[in-house]
Amino acid sequence: MNAALIAARKTHRCCECRSQIDPGTCYVREAVKSDGTVDTNKFCVRCYALMQSGEADVDGCIFIGDVRNNVRESLRNTNGWKKLLAFMRKRVAGIRAGQLRPPYESVS
Ligand SMILES: [Zn+2]
Repeated sequence: MNAALIAARKTHRCCECRSQIDPGTCYVREAVKSDGTVDTNKFCVRCYALMQSGEADVDGCIFIGDVRNNVRESLRNTNGWKKLLAFMRKRVAGIRAGQLRPPYESVS
């Protein structure tokens, strides 16, 4: 898995939230190898940060397209929203600064 912060030269769509990534906006491009092929996923910075929150995992896996639902589900019965917001603030700033991998501090 290989990720890079890239300034969009054309319009893209975030693989997670499907929102438009406009030219000039920074996004994260991630290359994932599976079964000998390489898939490229593009994420807006917020979704990429959310995927790193630890709240998006289901049995150790992250399902692209379900990240927001899974985070919602994970936090439904807890008071974890404040911690998640604090994590997101730091993480989004970190990613925008090119630090794609967090020095891990778990949200919960
Ligand atoms: Zn997104």
